[in-house]
Amino acid sequence: MIYGIITVDYEDFIKDNHKWNAMNNIIVPANKIMDFFDSYGIPVTFYCNVAEYIRMEQLGHCNAKLLYEHMNNIMKRGHEIQMHFHERTLHVDIGQDGQWKKSDFVEGDNILLRNIPEFEQGVRILRSINPDTNSYRGGGYLIEPIYDNFTYLHELGFKTDSSLGWSRRSKNFPPFLVNIHGLTEVPICKVDGIRWDMSASPRFVYAVNNIINNYQHFSKDMFIVMMGHTKQKIFWSDMTEILNIHKHNIHFITMSQVAT
Ligand SMILES: [Zn+2]
Repeated sequence: MIYGIITVDYEDFIKDNHKWNAMNNIIVPANKIMDFFDSYGIPVTFYCNVAEYIRMEQLGHCNAKLLYEHMNNIMKRGHEIQMHFHERTLHVDIGQDGQWKKSDFVEGDNILLRNIPEFEQGVRILRSINPDTNSYRGGGYLIEPIYDNFTYLHELGFKTDSSLGWSRRSKNFPPFLVNIHGLTEVPICKVDGIRWDMSASPRFVYAVNNIINNYQHFSKDMFIVMMGHTKQKIFWSDMTEILNIHKHNIHFITMSQVAT
């Protein structure tokens, strides 16, 4: 069986003097993504950067309320929120113009264990919206050191992770489920260095065809994890092409439906 999981990182990007706008950069694009996949009856898993939400709340920014309501709306529509966490977001401030101030903070290893209060606050917030918040994707695909972080996530009740398979350090991960210290890793699969990324047309059309066409060589169930970001341009016509070709070959599920 070939399973497909549509994952979208639900976040704004904090870069140089970036203007924070939850409505334009997260909510409107996420709604468009849900509308598109609804027309195929496909559920979407949104990995919500809860650190961004926590920082908004700390700063008393009105975007926090908008995001909280919208994450509830995602669940009501039959899609799903899961946890994403960018440490860098905890280090941004708001300038006098009401916009984000540039942060030079660079993310690295040990993100989870260095930010336990905020991380566990984030878990509580997301579980108040989706009690089945049990899947994690590291900000920037950072999940190292693997043993410490997977053990910690397991203690918090997480069941799956989808951080490996794309970063330089984990690029050779196979597109199969792998059990790591009590969690099931659902890797971001790629073929010939290309992943199924909604924002990387036309290369992802080739990548998905390649994955499907090579499937007969594998004896196990295969999981195709597709990537997207709320902030990035999406190539809708290529998405349509791929889904029209392969929608009957792929069984689409959400992360919480992965049997662990
Ligand atoms: Zn991210």
